[in-house]
Amino acid sequence: MAEHSFKYIIVGGGVSAGYAAKEFVNQGVKPGELAIISKEAVAPYERPALSKAYLFPESPARLPGFHTCVGSGGERLLPEWYNEKGVQLHLSTEIVKADLAAKSLTSAKGETFTYQTLVIATGSTVIRLTDFGVEGADAKNIFYLREVDDADKLYEAIKAKKNGKAVVVGGGYIGLELSAVLRLNNIDVTMVYPEPWCMPRLFTAEIAAFYEGYYANKGVNIIKGTVATGFTSNSDGEVKEVKLKDGRVLEADIVVVGVGGRPQISLFKGQVEEEKGGIKHLLWL
Ligand SMILES: Cc1cc2nc3c(=O)[nH]c(=O)nc-3n(C[C@H](O)[C@H](O)[C@H](O)COP(=O)(O)OP(=O)(O)OC[C@H]3O[C@@H](n4cnc5c(N)ncnc54)[C@H](O)[C@@H]3O)c2cc1C
Repeated sequence: MAEHSFKYIIVGGGVSAGYAAKEFVNQGVKPGELAIISKEAVAPYERPALSKAYLFPESPARLPGFHTCVGSGGERLLPEWYNEKGVQLHLSTEIVKADLAAKSLTSAKGETFTYQTLVIATGSTVIRLTDFGVEGADAKNIFYLREVDDADKLYEAIKAKKNGKAVVVGGGYIGLELSAVLRLNNIDVTMVYPEPWCMPRLFTAEIAAFYEGYYANKGVNIIKGTVATGFTSNSDGEVKEVKLKDGRVLEADIVVVGVGGRPQISLFKGQVEEEKGGIKHLLWL
């Protein structure tokens, strides 16, 4: 199996990786010294676009239009840029083992990558309702949003369920953004969240009241103080109803779940000190 050796490796090919690669080049990294290893099939891009312009009904954003670093008004780093600068992109490559003491990574395909310096940029993964064993949560047309593939699937469902009904589970950024973009697509939207108001960690009651009023004016139905406890599906396995803890049942052609994320650090378990679910520092530092 192939063995690759680099002075610097960035594991993870998301937003941080793109911006870090640009900075490495600005700081004079030499061709062949830096590699990015990413599970995703595409070069680093501005992930925030996925819950916004990517889902617009007219002229939706598509790659290569939003590769990093356009989100901050910087240069758009196309795959050719990485080539020109001698930064190796190992895409569709999942690292399944990290040995920090040996400075070595192993991919799912069995390749070995060694390095002198590692940048951990594995980001977060979504929390799924199936993680909590919510009944029926594996039905088709229940969506989460993290990567381009997730956004493509949601986009297809929006087109397939024209003028249909969506239930958005969660009252945070993802819930609010997805509700807005679903309304732009003329989907009937109900948001459900357990807190007394949306974005409770950031918004005061007054700020939230403004947004909730604004959303209601745009036709978003908001149900607060309860949670989704189960889903039923039709004979094709597609979600049909959302059951709420307070006993209500909502019809749904599409469900979008935005109930938070957690840092992807399982590769480094036992090799790092953790804090609040993330990496605080390497154990031997
Ligand atoms: C839909 C959506 C909308 C958002 N909107 C906003 C916004 O408007 N404003 C804002 O500030 N933030 C927003 N965020 C948050 C923002 O996108 C994140 O803070 C940012 O992506 C974090 O960058 P990162 O590089 O740490 O992780 P990520 O961008 O998540 O990148 C992690 C990368 O690591 C890869 N990876 C993970 N494990 C492995 C492995 N074992 N092997 C190989 N590759 C691996 C992943 O596939 C991914 O490519 C949004 C997030 C989402 C999902």
